[in-house]
Amino acid sequence: MIIALDGPAGSGKSTIAKLVAKELNIDYLDTGAMYRMVTLYFLQNKLDLKDESTINENLKNITILIKSNSFFLNGKNVDEEIRSVEVTRNVSLTASYKKVREFLVDKQREIAKENSCILDGRDIGSVVFPNADYKFFMTATPETRAKRRFLQGQDSNSTQTEQEILEEIIKS
Ligand code: C5P
Repeated sequence: MIIALDGPAGSGKSTIAKLVAKELNIDYLDTGAMYRMVTLYFLQNKLDLKDESTINENLKNITILIKSNSFFLNGKNVDEEIRSVEVTRNVSLTASYKKVREFLVDKQREIAKENSCILDGRDIGSVVFPNADYKFFMTATPETRAKRRFLQGQDSNSTQTEQEILEEIIKS
């Protein structure tokens, strides 16, 4: 069984997905975390994120493993690093590249083949699993989304204010 949960950043998808996964005793796949891991790899290796061909060329060096909601980038746990402000600021650029999306969508389909699972992300019901058994779209006001982002950032020592986050959300 596949449950697809779509919606914009900060709308509460992952909170709901985790609860549903627990309630139904199925896996939860946080696809945003996958985009964050790829972005972290490029930042750590000081690659130019604006250079799409360099990004494409380096995808082959990335191994992603997700185990019990912990994230491993080339064998190293990166649960905290993927929530950093630097990753948050750059992830939408990385996620805009076709090859990056293909790389991660393939991976998402491969993981979901194995077990029943709930996946969240902005394209899950529309692109990744158009034939999902159940599809939901979540949304929230910019203010609520900013508040959620702000509280998440505090966990990873972000210095961004709630107002700055709100302005970013409104602009995007
Ligand atoms: O949900 P989260 O904030 O962790 O997602 C990080 C970013 O990854 C999103 O803001 C979006 O740019 C990108 N993303 C995406 N497609 C997905 C999941 C996330 O483009 N399925």
